[in-house]
Amino acid sequence: MLLAAFLILGAALDARQTSDLRTRAETSDYVETSTYDDVMRVAKALVASSPLVHFESFGTTEEGRALPLLVLADPLVSTPEAARNLGRPIVFIQANIHAGEVEGKEASLILARRLTSGDLRPMLRQLTILIAPIYNADGNEKVSVQNRTQQYGPIAGVGTRENSKGLDLNRDYMKLDSAEARALVGLMNKWDPHVAIDLHTTNGSYHGYHLTYAPTLNPNADARLIALARERILPVAQRAVLEKHRLRTYYYGNFASESGMARESSRVDPGKPGDTVWRTFDHRPRFGNNYVGLRNRLAILSEAYSYLDFRGRVRVTEVFVEESLRAIAANAARLTALTSLLDQEAKLPPGGVEFKLTPLPAAVEILVSDVEKEPHPRSGKEMLVMSQTVTPVRMKDYGLFAATRTVPMPAGWLIPRPHVEAGRYAAAIDRLRWHGLQIQTVAAEAEVDVERFTVTALTKAERLFQGRHEARLTGKYEPAKLSAQQGALFIPASQPLARLAFYLLEAESDDGLVTWNLIEEGLTAGETYPIYRVMNVGGLKLTP
Ligand SMILES: [Zn+2]
Repeated sequence: MLLAAFLILGAALDARQTSDLRTRAETSDYVETSTYDDVMRVAKALVASSPLVHFESFGTTEEGRALPLLVLADPLVSTPEAARNLGRPIVFIQANIHAGEVEGKEASLILARRLTSGDLRPMLRQLTILIAPIYNADGNEKVSVQNRTQQYGPIAGVGTRENSKGLDLNRDYMKLDSAEARALVGLMNKWDPHVAIDLHTTNGSYHGYHLTYAPTLNPNADARLIALARERILPVAQRAVLEKHRLRTYYYGNFASESGMARESSRVDPGKPGDTVWRTFDHRPRFGNNYVGLRNRLAILSEAYSYLDFRGRVRVTEVFVEESLRAIAANAARLTALTSLLDQEAKLPPGGVEFKLTPLPAAVEILVSDVEKEPHPRSGKEMLVMSQTVTPVRMKDYGLFAATRTVPMPAGWLIPRPHVEAGRYAAAIDRLRWHGLQIQTVAAEAEVDVERFTVTALTKAERLFQGRHEARLTGKYEPAKLSAQQGALFIPASQPLARLAFYLLEAESDDGLVTWNLIEEGLTAGETYPIYRVMNVGGLKLTP
């Protein structure tokens, strides 16, 4: 009797635990997506149900919500040091950066359940997995059926793309204007994951893929790192998703006209089929996948297809991440060896400051499809639904970027003491620190060989974009001698984040401090750009 009562109690506990671990998407039969409270409830239930889960917050949103982070490993790790000591790849899964694109939030929680108490548990002996299921937590709470109206569910609505201040967090990786982006780079500095997987939904051209993906696209990231993603991780995940789950995936793109590359189109132009190409998006590190590459880490962008139903999108995101994790685990030693090599490399190749899209060497078969229209049962607006027919069409794949102009990597960059003291560039220097760059101080006055940049013109966009007027600087470098005073700041290029330093600091960068008006003073024609390229650190005495 007593035993029976225990058994019944045990069964009830199990049932409650299982239901606690289910996401709102699952319990609502995919009519609704999880709220912030739902996510926190599942996160706490995961901690209660498994000894392999550490739970913390990596920061606070603009509206004051704690940003949850789950750390999964066997044995349990609760500090970055413990994670590094395991010697395994640390994989960061980030969802909901755009809070209308909600399937990653559900899929990452489902994966957390499978990793801690389900079939994927053995993987926690190969990988340490960090999950931030609800990055844009404030946007998530602004649920409306008027957001992403063409998306095929969830029909109870989704949150907003932007954070509560109207900022797109996937344009904020360099300028760090949002509390959320600063929290995220804080997480990267603290846990230093080897891989970052960023989960989205795409509503672009009418293609035949359930999900599309992209590695780092900026060629200033190391070529071996990009090759590891393109040759050993993404194609392996793609094949496994197709063979095991019968779901189609490929590199992210949209149809575009080769003669007018800027124009994207929903469909292949039937009048000029030969002119249609498949084109990827952008090389700039304001996007997470490109930013991560500049930190010498492997990035995977995942874009579930908006016109697949919500349940299907959660499922394809889940299995794509699952198979990516398997491919990462299979390359664990190769990946960790490469990232530590890159962090220590003393001499870096020149960095690009201008780029162009380039096609893959050979044309590929792209799956073309169409959409049907279906009225949304609540908003009455038209949702688009993926067609069943899929046709392969051979076309060029503009999936790469190449640098069209490069600048040699200096030994470091110097900000003279008067600039530091006057506070004129405080906003810029703040960013350097937030990104985690090593910054040294000149300990004693010394003459150094530098290149100084004389401004020819500053071109500023009239239009406000993300709260700023994007700017571009042109000018000319010339060698000079500079007397560096004690107290000047020196950012060495011999540091793990050198590629990121280059992108932020170079005068001609297309996504740096100048771009985002973080350096404004001293940029009129004829003036000297306030940051000098140091060509030789020989005479400099530096304190860390
Ligand atoms: Zn997105």
